[in-house]
Amino acid sequence: MISRIHDPVTAIKGIGDETAATLNDMNIHTVADLLEHLPYRYEDYRLKDLETVGHDERVTVEGKVHSQPTLGYFGKKKSRLMFKLLVGRYLITVTFFNQPYLKNKLKIGDAVTITGKWDRHRQSINGSECRIGPYHNEKEFEPIYSIKGNITVKGLRRYISNAFSQYGQYIEENLPREFLLGYKLPSRQDALFAMHFPASATDVKHARRRFVYEEFLFFQLKMQAIRKVQREQSKGIRQSYKLDRVKGFIDSLPFTLTNAQKRVVNEILTDMKSPYRMNRLLQGDVGSGKTAVAAIALFASVTAGYQGALMVPTEILAEQHAGSLHSMLAPAGMKTALLTSSVKGKKRREILTSLNEGEIDILIGTHALIQEEVAFNKLGLVITDEQHRFGVEQRRVLREKGENPDVLFMTATPIPRTLAITVFGEMDVSVIDEMPAGRKAIETHWAKHDMLDRILGFVEKELRKGRQAYVICPLIEESEKLDLENALDVHAALTQYYNGRYKVGLMHGRLPSDEKESVMKEFSENQLQVLVSTTVVEVGVNVPNATVMVIYDAERFGLAQLHQLRGRVGRGSEQSYCILLADPKSELGKERMKIMTETNDGFVLSEKDLELRGPGDFFGKKQSGLPEFKVADMVHDYRALEVARDDAAKLIASQSFWTEQEYLPLRQYLEQNGVLNGDKLD
Ligand code: ADP
Ligand code: MG
Repeated sequence: MISRIHDPVTAIKGIGDETAATLNDMNIHTVADLLEHLPYRYEDYRLKDLETVGHDERVTVEGKVHSQPTLGYFGKKKSRLMFKLLVGRYLITVTFFNQPYLKNKLKIGDAVTITGKWDRHRQSINGSECRIGPYHNEKEFEPIYSIKGNITVKGLRRYISNAFSQYGQYIEENLPREFLLGYKLPSRQDALFAMHFPASATDVKHARRRFVYEEFLFFQLKMQAIRKVQREQSKGIRQSYKLDRVKGFIDSLPFTLTNAQKRVVNEILTDMKSPYRMNRLLQGDVGSGKTAVAAIALFASVTAGYQGALMVPTEILAEQHAGSLHSMLAPAGMKTALLTSSVKGKKRREILTSLNEGEIDILIGTHALIQEEVAFNKLGLVITDEQHRFGVEQRRVLREKGENPDVLFMTATPIPRTLAITVFGEMDVSVIDEMPAGRKAIETHWAKHDMLDRILGFVEKELRKGRQAYVICPLIEESEKLDLENALDVHAALTQYYNGRYKVGLMHGRLPSDEKESVMKEFSENQLQVLVSTTVVEVGVNVPNATVMVIYDAERFGLAQLHQLRGRVGRGSEQSYCILLADPKSELGKERMKIMTETNDGFVLSEKDLELRGPGDFFGKKQSGLPEFKVADMVHDYRALEVARDDAAKLIASQSFWTEQEYLPLRQYLEQNGVLNGDKLD
């Protein structure tokens, strides 16, 4: 039965065909759509003390006109009216655009009430409403709507008011009673009314709480349902690994696993043993020991009679991983091989043949692994490191190389929890949230570029102790457009500066790969003491003797990237240092540098980054795939998001969710969103 709430908007008093057409343009077709067209903000008409109002915030103030208004015209019909207003002991400027008629109404000494936007720096208000006379609190709070064409905010308010009298009783509840009562949320009917006709700010706050929860719950239900469907429909492989051998391998490692490592190893092994296909994201800060976890999983897969693959984004990283996995796995009798585009000719053919024949147990490489000629014998587990660098398509191709192999995505860029549970809501997430014991925190300092001499002196002190240093530049070569340090110039300058006392190497993305390799080798063997580089060393590179990193133009990098870069030092037992050279102009820029000096925790930084840049910018707009919420805000309402996620998971897992009347609206929502094909999940 279709509820009356889905009647067309023309059923509402005052809405004719013409208005309906404009409403349709605004994506408002039914009465329900109209009632759900929520205000995008509220005008707060309560008086505020300018002292407490932030820059760009909206205010209402009462004052006395202090100067004769001046009126200027520009363009055809555009005008600007300005006058001084005395508000308490503040003398401020008030500007009104395109309201020339105010000029004759304003007299020096008159009391007026002004609403508008406060510009703290200019001590002025850009006015939107001017009422002659002292402040009356006849209205406190008014909703402001987005509108189109000939529809006005006032008109819209009237239509919505009529919609409430005609249809209010048909507004249906869609949240189960347990949540409404449990979280003390208002009913849908009350909450909608309060959003449109609030008596106070508190009214809006309560109503908003409900819609935030509702939006998050529905979104999370969708993600959890997708996950359930994927699990139940994907035929994975049951990897029957040899537990005693896996335990023996773990015992053979030169360290004991941290509790966090143990926990995620268990999560991964449980997935591998299950008949479902693993689809898991492994997050862990730089240096938290993800490689060891990967090695254990690969080892387990081989004991189950399968092959494993590890795909990483750069050749440097591939070589390094191949080296460390070989030293861990060879003593256990496992055969590893490295495949990158630099492996050519006979060597390459040999690798491909023995891979195909199943002689190679574990293949490590770059995207060379997904070329067509690469055929595994029996691929059971695919791991990709630094997953944000691979596209969805590349991951799919690698996965299709076996018959539904288990897949583990590793990332060292901590993704804020809030984003992880929205963007990766349909994946399982494991987190290594603990560092191996005995690590010294990297000391981070922020200096202006004009302090370079002192910095170089400090670096030299470390070099004299036999340590090594990284110097990071944002550009490879000089640019006409950007006034930033480039690696070629800095390399030349430092070579001259050290004048043979220390050897300075150069590293950047445009070097041929054999040269990259040899530079990296020289640096890791301490034949080079200083490495000037672009961000190509950002991921994975491991030279424990390097204890200082200087980063030029540090304000150019994101916090997550600075943190990754910084992770190249502090890998040995010595105290390490990171020096950020930056002259940020904005407060935000300064705040970012300060945060870097205050925390070494990648998760804290990523949460901060998200807060400062907003969710859209965190991943870069294009690939974000972030859902849009009408009322909720992922950053500020993250607690509600977590609560909703847990509630959604419980619901989806319960029997009653699929049968009880109470949950019908939620099931209908899933159906409408194509998540449940035919409602036959159980
Ligand atoms: P990630 O890949 O997460 O950045 P790695 O796996 O490269 O970290 O580990 C960083 C360093 O810590 C390596 O030298 C590794 O051998 C060491 N390591 C890993 N796990 C532990 C542990 N539980 N205890 C001590 N050292 C560890
Ligand atoms: Mg790593």
